[in-house]
Amino acid sequence: MPYQLVEVSTATANVCCPYCDHAVLDWEQEQYIQPCEHTLFIAMDLGFEYIADRFEEALPQPVEEIHEDPNMNIFLSVTQANYAVMLIYKADLGVEGMFRYIGFNQN
Ligand SMILES: [Zn+2]
Repeated sequence: MPYQLVEVSTATANVCCPYCDHAVLDWEQEQYIQPCEHTLFIAMDLGFEYIADRFEEALPQPVEEIHEDPNMNIFLSVTQANYAVMLIYKADLGVEGMFRYIGFNQN
């Protein structure tokens, strides 16, 4: 499925929605995950932190199954979702080889 990848260079940067400019990752909030209506998912390589119902329905496997898979590959799972178009932000977690992914779409 088509997606566009945007690399976010620093782990501590706020990430704003490209459509409404809401800070979806807001490090000034105690609850720093603040999804907006355009947020499809927020995930780290370790698992999902947030997932919208409409995106969960589009995944090839239920989230519980993805989390239970010892060879879990979050990025591969989200890019296999049956979703027309999405934008994926990829942020370095500051730990070697670990990333956070945030998916958006305009609906
Ligand atoms: Zn938004």
